Amino acid sequence: MLGWRLLRRPRKAMQPQDPTRPRIHSVTRTLRLKVKTESYAWLNTAAYEVNQVWNWSAEVSEKAARPCTGERKWLTGFDLNNLSAGASEYFDKIGADTIQRVNGEYAEQRRIAKRIRLRWRTSRGPRRSLGWVPFKAASLKRKGRSLRFCGKTFRVFEPERLEGVKWRQGEFAQDAVGDWWLCLRIKIQVEESVAPLEKVGIDLGLTEVAVTSDDARCEKSCFYRGIEQKIAQAQRRGHPRQAKFLHRRAANRRKDALHKFSRRIVNEYEKIVVGDVSSTQLVKTRMAKSVLDAGWGMLRTYLQYKSQQAGRTFQIVNERNSSRICSNCDALTGPQGVNGLRVRRWTCAACGVSHDREVNAARNHLRRAELPASVRKRVIVLAGSAEPSIPLAQGRTEPVRTVA
Ligand SMILES: [Zn+2]
Repeated sequence: MLGWRLLRRPRKAMQPQDPTRPRIHSVTRTLRLKVKTESYAWLNTAAYEVNQVWNWSAEVSEKAARPCTGERKWLTGFDLNNLSAGASEYFDKIGADTIQRVNGEYAEQRRIAKRIRLRWRTSRGPRRSLGWVPFKAASLKRKGRSLRFCGKTFRVFEPERLEGVKWRQGEFAQDAVGDWWLCLRIKIQVEESVAPLEKVGIDLGLTEVAVTSDDARCEKSCFYRGIEQKIAQAQRRGHPRQAKFLHRRAANRRKDALHKFSRRIVNEYEKIVVGDVSSTQLVKTRMAKSVLDAGWGMLRTYLQYKSQQAGRTFQIVNERNSSRICSNCDALTGPQGVNGLRVRRWTCAACGVSHDREVNAARNHLRRAELPASVRKRVIVLAGSAEPSIPLAQGRTEPVRTVA
C-alpha cells in the first residue's frame, strides 16, 4: 500500500472504562503538509529512482523465490538491504535510508499479499505509479522554517504545524492531481473523556448519510453530484488535470463533513451503535454512485478510531429488518417490500406510534446492541425472511438483495 492511509488505529484494544478517571494514552497519526511547487521537479526525479529500487527488489525477490536450482528463499527486507549495500552511490537524489525503506516496504507488502512478485512501479505513461519517496526519521532535518532532506531544502505550506513535533519515519507522496505532500508519522497524546449523553444508535442510509436515534442528521450534501457536470465538462474539453482536481475537491468536502459529524457524535455519546450495512455489496448495484458518495465505510472507520481514542464503546449490529420493526412495541408493522422503501414516515398498526423511517431504524440498532448475543440472534431469525432494509435514494425503486 503506497498511498499511505491517513490514520493508523491505536494498537490498544477497547476496554470498559472506569468513568471517574480519564486516562491518557498515545496514538500515532499522520501529519500531512503540502510541499511547495519549487521542489516538484526534484521529487519527480527521486520518485523515478525509488521506482527503480522497487523494481530491483521485485526482480531479486522473485529470482530467490523461483530459483533454477536449490531451495527457494523468501527474501526479507533485511536480506534485500544486504544485497543492495552501497547502491546509493549510483543514485543522484535518494540515499541509503530511502533504499532501505523501499526494500523493507517491498518485503512487507509482498509477505502480506502472499505473492511471488508485486506489480512493477512504472514511471511513465498513463498507468504510471503515483510518486512516492519514503525516508527514515533522521534524514529529514529542520532548518528554520524549512526542511533539509538529501542535501536539498524543502519548503511546505503551514510550517507552523511542525513546531514542537517529533516525527518518526515519513514520506513524500504524490496525489492524483500531481501535487506532492509530506507525510510524517507522529505520536500524540489523547485523553480519554466522559461524554454527557449515554448512548446513540446510527442508521446509515442514502437519502441522508446517517441519522441518529435522537434525530440528528448528517445531510448528504451530494458532494460528488454537485461537481459531476463540471467534471464531465472538463473531461470532454480535454482537461484531465482539472477533472482530477475537481474529484479531489469532492473527496475533501466529503471527508470534512464526515469528520465533523463523527467528532460531534463521539463528543456527545458514551456508547455508539452502528448498523452493518455493507457498502462493498451495494456498490455492485445501480445505486453505486449514491453509495460511494455517502462514504459509509469512511464514517464507520472515523467513528471507530475516534471512539477508541476517547475511550467510548463502539458496536456494529446486524441491521436486518431494523426499519420494519416498531421500536416502541416490537411489532413487524413497518413498510415492506419495494414500495415500502420509499416511505419516509409510517404509523405502527399495533400501537399507533408514528415513526420516521431512519430514526426508528437507528433506535432498533440501539436496542439490538443491548440484547445479549444469544437473544440477538434469535430476534433476527424470528423477524422472518423479508428483504433486508436499506433506504433507497428517492425515485429509485429496485429491491436490494445483495446485503447479507
Ligand atoms: Zn408499535
